[in-house]
Amino acid sequence: MSGNKFVSPILEKIRAADPETGLNLARSIGGGYIKQVDEMRVFPDAMALANLAVFDEELPEGPAGTADILQQLAEYGAPATVAQTGRRYFGFVCGGILPAALGAKWIADVWDQNAAMYVMSPVAAKIEDVCEKWLVDLLGLPAGTAAGFVSGSATATMIGLIAGRNYLLHQRGHDVVRQGLFHAPEIKVVVGADAHSTVYKALSIIGLGNERIIKVPVDAQGRMREDQLPELDDQTLLILQAGNVNSGAFDAFAPLCRRAKAAGAWVHIDGAFGLWAAANPRMHSLMAGIDLADSWSVDAHKTLNAPYDNGIALCRHRDVLVGAMHMTGAYIIYDTRRDGMLYTLDMSRRARAVELWAALKSLGKEGAADLVEELHRKARYFAELLADGGLEVLNEVVYNQVLVRSTDDAKTEALIRRVQESGVCWLGGSKWAGQTVMRISVCSYKTRYEDIEISAREILRLAKELA
Ligand SMILES: *Cc1c(COP(=O)(O)O)cnc(C)c1O
Repeated sequence: MSGNKFVSPILEKIRAADPETGLNLARSIGGGYIKQVDEMRVFPDAMALANLAVFDEELPEGPAGTADILQQLAEYGAPATVAQTGRRYFGFVCGGILPAALGAKWIADVWDQNAAMYVMSPVAAKIEDVCEKWLVDLLGLPAGTAAGFVSGSATATMIGLIAGRNYLLHQRGHDVVRQGLFHAPEIKVVVGADAHSTVYKALSIIGLGNERIIKVPVDAQGRMREDQLPELDDQTLLILQAGNVNSGAFDAFAPLCRRAKAAGAWVHIDGAFGLWAAANPRMHSLMAGIDLADSWSVDAHKTLNAPYDNGIALCRHRDVLVGAMHMTGAYIIYDTRRDGMLYTLDMSRRARAVELWAALKSLGKEGAADLVEELHRKARYFAELLADGGLEVLNEVVYNQVLVRSTDDAKTEALIRRVQESGVCWLGGSKWAGQTVMRISVCSYKTRYEDIEISAREILRLAKELA
């Protein structure tokens, strides 16, 4: 029968090699990267980008060795990375990586757990349970709020909106799980005119489309205008925002949520980077009323400085969320303990709560509060330096975002390009009130006041050159 026992010489070689080789090399290559990331160019230079051509090969017929593979990443991958984990990356809304969270991720990578079900990973289930409780406590959410650990806010928002859609239709006797959206009563979707594009994407994917959405006008900071709110009812999905993606502004949750609740509407808060402000009691004025909402989405990979990909869907109605995400199969035997897939779109999923747990534990409540406060103070400092240097700051810096402009669109665009090419820091562009702006997001725990000074000096120097 030995003829049936196929053994691949390639796999034999992989099995025979020291299983720690990859990890040891990764430790040394990764360690080297960490040591120099604060000093490297924040965006790769032309040579590093051109060298990425080494990856343009056909899939080889034969195997490559672990050392060669990792060496290629060290030699050609690392120089073409964006130094997002360094001190002077202010692009998009990204965030660095806390050391405890990075270490925890490597351990969880070695474990390679599937967080779908309790029986697949008791430790992942336990840590998800703990994170759920910690988040509810830290963010001041209603007791019993359920958390699903997903890849990011785009997914977390979709989960919140699915729960809301199903809840509202169920109130009218329509069961979406059984009947789909066929012959369903109509849902009124209300968003602020500055809602994030992932909200529109989620609405289109879950069958609510983009055309019928009611967009409520916003004020000069991008906050939903309460006096422009349409009539709400028990078939309304109201989507609010904690942290406008440009200005960082927060909707006025308390009055908006109170009106929605009185009408029987479902409120979702997109708090991808802003919801963490709730960790700081001193920022209460921004966050008052968030506990009145029904669902929330937030990213640990942004303001909290956990590694990618780490988003969280939160829902106060556990039964509604589970009802929407539930699935069955002969081999799916649920446990009395946590089965993580009951709260997510995914089935198989890595145990990303391990990094979230480590990030939260390494900060504690006080550290989390301090983190958002530092980001805020540093953003204000950045705004002050740039305004003193003659640039125009266009937003009220209530959180970690700063919108800056030179004399006109063309000058601002040129300035953004020059800053990006400088390698000293990196920031992106955006449109604000129809004008081109530089968009600065202070998001990394690593950024020091000195880094703000270095960056502001470079931005102002380039602005002067362009003038
Ligand atoms: C980043 C962001 C999202 C999307 O989150 P991902 O984690 O990229 O999926 C949604 N809303 C806001 C306000 C954001 O800043």
